Amino acid sequence: MKPKITILDLNFGNLSDTIAAFLVEVAGEVILVESGPHSTYPILKQAIENQGFKMEMIQKVFLTHIHFDHAGAAWAFAQHGATIYVHPAGEKHLANPTKLYNSAKMIYGDAMEMLWGKMESIPLENMHVTQHGETIPIGDGTTSMTAWHTPGHAAHHIVWQLGSEILFAGDVAGVSIEKQMAVPPCPPPDIDLAAWRTSIHLIRALRVKKLYLTHYGMVSNPQTYLMAFEKTLNKWGNWMKPHVERSTPVEVVTPLFQEWVAMDLARHGITGDLAKRYELSNPAWMSVAGLMRYWKKQLKPV
Ligand SMILES: [Zn+2]
Repeated sequence: MKPKITILDLNFGNLSDTIAAFLVEVAGEVILVESGPHSTYPILKQAIENQGFKMEMIQKVFLTHIHFDHAGAAWAFAQHGATIYVHPAGEKHLANPTKLYNSAKMIYGDAMEMLWGKMESIPLENMHVTQHGETIPIGDGTTSMTAWHTPGHAAHHIVWQLGSEILFAGDVAGVSIEKQMAVPPCPPPDIDLAAWRTSIHLIRALRVKKLYLTHYGMVSNPQTYLMAFEKTLNKWGNWMKPHVERSTPVEVVTPLFQEWVAMDLARHGITGDLAKRYELSNPAWMSVAGLMRYWKKQLKPV
């Protein structure tokens, strides 16, 4: 049976095509990939019900990683008895999200709850810690999801391969809205450009036919897409390195980077409302923080 994949638009910040969750009907079961943040849970619930399902019917939720925009509402599914599939490095943070929440609150301040909603703990018995290469049978077992640990964007990142042809890529394959240029989201603290390149090569070697990006949608030419994406990733890294070598202060680097990215996006036809959605999915200041941290670690004398 061919899987039916529905892209659920969570309409984050009242903007379309920014954060997705994926409803997958296959082998007699309905599963969810990504939960979105808890702030968009009512939208997710409505979207699932519009497809003819009740929330309780979803007993497996596959997370690409534990950032709020991907995993923030997973606890609500655990309360319905669902199993949450997560990377070994993500488990303790979902079991006790206080640290995760507070470190994000340092960034987002009072806007935290409005942006991301609540985060409650997920009992350990509702989590399945997934190893690299592990396969989870779906429904009648005629198909499965395979976990591939893919660090670079986050140390706790997994891409999920459905059968042989489909891959849910989370953030490691970048942000590409309305099939435009792909850019790398580089938040602190885990950015690792070398690991990221290895992850891109791993994905290419899987030879899947379709990628599904959480930000945003389906990519039908994975090889070409990933080659272009890797170039942009390298370009971003190379841009940042000399600033860290020269110890340029972050408050100087941020506007320069913002302007440089905006120009590059504009050159690729991304302006106005579309540029706003790129910025919301992948704020430039956040990538500055992540890339600077990466280079500081690399350039530190040993
Ligand atoms: Zn992320």
